[in-house]
Amino acid sequence: MSEEILVNVTPRETRVAVVENGVLQEVQIERVARRGLVGGIFKGCVSRVMPGMDAAFIDIGLEKAAFIHASDVNTLPRSSQSVPAEDGEVVHEAISNLLHDGQQVLVQVVKDQIGTKGARLTTNITVPSRYLVLLPYSSDVRLSARLEDEEERERLSELMQELLDGSGKKFGCILRTAAESASKEELRRDLDFLLRLWDSIVEKIGKVTSVAEVYSDLPLAVRTLRDLNTDDVENIYIDSRETVLNVKTFAEKLVPELVGRIQRYTGARPIFDLHGIEDELEKALRRKVMLKSGGHLVFDQTESMTTVDVNTGGYIGNRNLEETIFKTNLESALAIGRQLKLRNLGGIIIIDFIDMAEEEHKRQVLRALEKVLEKDRAKTQICEVSPLGLVEMTRKRTHESLEHILCEPCPTCAGGGSIKSSQTVCYQLFREIMRVARQYEADELLVLASQSVVDLLVDEESDILAELEEFTKKTIKLQVETLYTQEQFDVVLL
Ligand SMILES: [Zn+2]
Repeated sequence: MSEEILVNVTPRETRVAVVENGVLQEVQIERVARRGLVGGIFKGCVSRVMPGMDAAFIDIGLEKAAFIHASDVNTLPRSSQSVPAEDGEVVHEAISNLLHDGQQVLVQVVKDQIGTKGARLTTNITVPSRYLVLLPYSSDVRLSARLEDEEERERLSELMQELLDGSGKKFGCILRTAAESASKEELRRDLDFLLRLWDSIVEKIGKVTSVAEVYSDLPLAVRTLRDLNTDDVENIYIDSRETVLNVKTFAEKLVPELVGRIQRYTGARPIFDLHGIEDELEKALRRKVMLKSGGHLVFDQTESMTTVDVNTGGYIGNRNLEETIFKTNLESALAIGRQLKLRNLGGIIIIDFIDMAEEEHKRQVLRALEKVLEKDRAKTQICEVSPLGLVEMTRKRTHESLEHILCEPCPTCAGGGSIKSSQTVCYQLFREIMRVARQYEADELLVLASQSVVDLLVDEESDILAELEEFTKKTIKLQVETLYTQEQFDVVLL
C-alpha cells in the first residue's frame, strides 16, 4: 500500500490529508481559534471541593472552572489507597481526603470544555511520544490492547522494564500500537525524548508561581508525524517552509528514517487540489454519496446515532437482481468504511444494506466491512446484525466530526435538513394575500418572493393568481427578491 501525507498550512488553519493509492482516506483539521486543550498540562488551583458530587472544581485559568472527579485523582502509592471491592470495581478515596480548597495541583485536560460544561481533568498525567506514553506518576508498564501477539507483548514489556530500570527514574509507561516490532534502540530514543521533555515540563512547573499551562500537545503537523505508521508512508508533502523545518527537527530527534521523506510542496496548484482532495471534502459534507455501481448511500446524523442507508441505482431488471444487490452492498461496505473515517463519525452507527437472499453474500459483505474497519485508527466494533439485516456498530473517536468542525446548522432549515417546498410557500402566500386584501384598502399589492416561488406563480399557479386578483379586486404584481430564501416572502401595499 502506498500512502502519502499532504499538509496544507495557512496562518489560521492546518489541514492534513492521508491519501492511499491516490484516494483520500482521512483528513484532520486544526484551527488556531478552536485548538482544544486536550493533552495540555496545567498548574491549577482547587477552587471548590464538592463532597456531594465526589468531585472538585479547579481553576486552570479558563473562563469556566474545570472539573475533576475523585476517581481521576492519582493516589500514589496505588496499592494502599485504591482497593478493589468484592465486585471488582475499584473503590477510590473520597474527594475531601484528596483535595482541599486553595491547594495547588498539577492536572491534565482529558476533555475540552463543551457548551456550558467545563473542561474535564485528571491528575494521571501522560505524555505521548511515538512508541510510548510516559506515566510520570506511575511505575506500571502497560501495553496497547491492539498489540495482540503474546510473544511480542512479552518482548516489549521486558525491553521496556529494562530501559526504565536503566533510566534511574521510577516512571511507568504505555507501549502504543506503533511499538510493534520496534527495536530496543528505537524505544530507547523514544524514552530519552520523553524524559527530556518531562524534565523541561518540571522546570516550567518550578518557574510558574500561579495558575498556568506548562505543556500543550504538539501542533497537528508534528503530531501527525509522531503518530504515523512509518512503513506505509512514502512521502510527506508540506506547503509551508516553516512547518517543513519544524517537522524535520522533530523527525530528526524521533523518527530519523522519515526525514528523507518530508518534502516541501512548491507546485503551482494548491496542494489540496492534488487527488481532488478539496472536492472529496465537499462531498464528505453531503448526505448522499454516489457509488460507481450506480447506487448511492445516504448518511443521516441525529444526536444519538448515525444511520447509513444503501440504495441501488434506479431500475434493476429481475435478471441477476441478487447479483446486482450483492455488488452494490460490497461496494457500499468499502465506501462506508472510508466515509466513516473521512467524516470522522462517532458513537452508534446503523447500516441498512439492501436485503440479500443468499447467506454467503451476507457473510461476504460483513467480512468486507470488517476488513475495511480494521484499518481505522479509531476503535470500531460491529455489535450485531439484527434480524432485519441492520448492521449495528460503534466507533470511538477522539476528535469532533468533520461536519462539526466545518459547519453550523443551516439557518434556512434550522438544522432540520429540509425546507418548505415552493408550492407550500406559494399556498401560504395566497392565504397572506387574502388576509392583507381583507384588512387594507389598497388597489395594488406587490409580492416579493424568491425566484422559485415567483416562477411557480407565473407558470403552474398562474390560474389561481388570476382568480385571486378577481376575487380581491386588486392588481397583484410580482417581484423576485434574490436575497430571499425559498421560505421568505412579503406582501406590500402599493
Ligand atoms: Zn438547510
